[in-house]
Parts: sequence; structure tokens; C-alpha cells
Amino acid sequence: MTAVPQIRLNDGRTIPQLGFGVFQIPPRDTADAVRRALEIGYRHIDTAQMYGNEKEVGEAVRASGLDRSEVFVTSKLNNNGHRPGDARRAFDGTLQALDLGYVDLFLIHWPLPTVEGTDYVETWRTMIEFAKDGRAGSIGVSNFQVPHLQRAIAETGVVPAINQIEVHPYFTNEEVRAYDRENGIVTEAWSPIAQGAVLDDEVVQRIASSLDRTPAQVVLRWHLQRGDVVFPKSVTTARIQENFELFDFELDADAMSDLSHLNRGEKGRTGPNPDEFDYVPR
Ligand code: NDP
Repeated sequence: MTAVPQIRLNDGRTIPQLGFGVFQIPPRDTADAVRRALEIGYRHIDTAQMYGNEKEVGEAVRASGLDRSEVFVTSKLNNNGHRPGDARRAFDGTLQALDLGYVDLFLIHWPLPTVEGTDYVETWRTMIEFAKDGRAGSIGVSNFQVPHLQRAIAETGVVPAINQIEVHPYFTNEEVRAYDRENGIVTEAWSPIAQGAVLDDEVVQRIASSLDRTPAQVVLRWHLQRGDVVFPKSVTTARIQENFELFDFELDADAMSDLSHLNRGEKGRTGPNPDEFDYVPR
């Protein structure tokens, strides 16, 4: 089986660099998709309270016959759970839904800097409790911009292990990635193929055909060579398999550079800008 590289986190733990994302997989299809991913060899699943499918992720991991320690599971605190009491209750809910004893990584999903009555630093302080008592192996954040990271670190002294942010060739997000790198934070790249939007790009297509690989494989390989963690989502078995076959070829410096030059800056985002995103489920 392909050996997926392990990346070391600033808390001494490790995370498989390639995983499987389950955003937008309906709960009724999630256990089956995760089962297929685990059969293919994925050992890292990325879910969230917001996705509504933690329970089904847990079911598939438990049914897989794999030892708990062999599968890395991430979940994320929903946007209505930022206040300390809410965060504690929501985290209990995640542990109960997954039913795996502990979660390997727990993230603040969005910083919500404009939402009144919440403060991501206070939320981060509560997350630190979850790591201390061992119910979260590692803790981190998602969609944090540089000023959010600076404040959280300065006011608590605890550096997140991970920052999960939007990154793909149309939005290379270099400033946040550089801050992460300089501060020992591992970057996870969400929507690594921009939900498919980058696959028809002629540069991507040219590199893929020159290497006899698919566009998705080329883009995912670009992420891995940049050192980021990725977890493409698919419900299609052939694609789940294809997205796992990334370790028997390499992109040369020209291909890496051509892909990075597809960056469109802010215009290239597929998702919301974290400085403005204020969605809070009621
Ligand atoms: P991706 O960039 O992973 O793209 C998924 C889409 O691409 C699906 O429509 C899928 O179709 C299609 N696809 C997958 N593989 C291939 C392939 N080989 N060839 C052609 N098409 C393909 O998007 P996501 O937004 O799902 O991002 C991945 C993960 O990142 C999420 O599942 C989630 O875990 C995380 N995420 C985190 C966010 C955050 O705020 N922290 C925000 C967004 C995502 P199909 O399924 O039909 O095969």
C-alpha cells in the first residue's frame, strides 16, 4: 500500500499528509464513502460539526476493523459554539457523535471577527482545555488570518498546531501560509482542487497530459510538494482511488512554478473571506 507521509506537528504528534474530506456528503452517504476511502488506504478523515455527518464518520471508522490509533480524525467547532460554555457542550457533542473515545484534531472552524458577543481568543482559550485533558489529541484553527493568529498566540501563549485555510492554484494564500510556516503551524489546504474549478485550466491540463496523470492528481501533488496537508472530497470510487495515487510521480520546478502562477489573489477564492464571514446557525 502507498505510504502517505506523516507531518510532525508542533505538539509532537503526527498527521497523515493526505486525507479524505466529507464536506457536503449527505449523512446517509457518509459511512459508505468513508468505508471506501479507508479500504483504498486513507487513514485521515476531515469532518466538522457543521457538516452534520460526524456520527456516520465514527460509524465507518469503528466498522473498519482498523485500530483506533491507525485513523486520524479531525472535527471542527461550529460557529454557534464560540462562547466557553457552548464550546464545551459542543465538544462533548462531537465526542459523543464520533464515539471514538477522542478526536485526533479539533479546530475552531471560523474566527468570526465581526460577530458580536464572541471572541476567537476566548474560544481558543477553551480549546486549550480540550487538549490538556487529552480528549483532543491536537488543537488548531481554521480560516484564521494573520492578525487572528497573532492575537490568539500573543494572548494565550499557545500556538495552534494547524491552520486549515482555502488554498489551490487560483488562490495560493501565500501570506497566511508564510505566517504559518514561520510560526511552526502546519497549513491544511481546503478545497484543494477548488471543488473542480481548476481542473479545466489549460496549464493544469498541459502538465497532466505531459506526465500521463489526471488534472486532479497534478494539483494535489502540487499541494504535497509545497508541504501542505490535503483531504480532497469525492463520493465517486474511481476518484477516491485516483486522488490517493500521488506518490509515484513528481512535479519539476517549472511545473510547480507554472501552477503557482495561476494565482488570482482574492478574486480566486471559491469560499468566503474569513474577515467578513459571519454565518452563525441558530
Ligand atoms: P474539493 O476541492 O476537494 O473538491 C471536491 C469536488 O471535486 C467534488 O465535487 C468532487 O466530485 C470533485 N472531485 C473530487 N475528486 C475529483 C477528481 N479526481 N476529478 C474530478 N473531480 C473530482 O472540495 P471541498 O470543498 O470538498 O474540499 C475538501 C475538504 O476540505 C472538504 O471536504 C472539507 O473536509 C474541507 N473544507 C474545509 C473548509 C473549512 O472552512 N475549514 C471549507 C471547505 C472545505 P464527486 O464528489 O462528485 O466525485
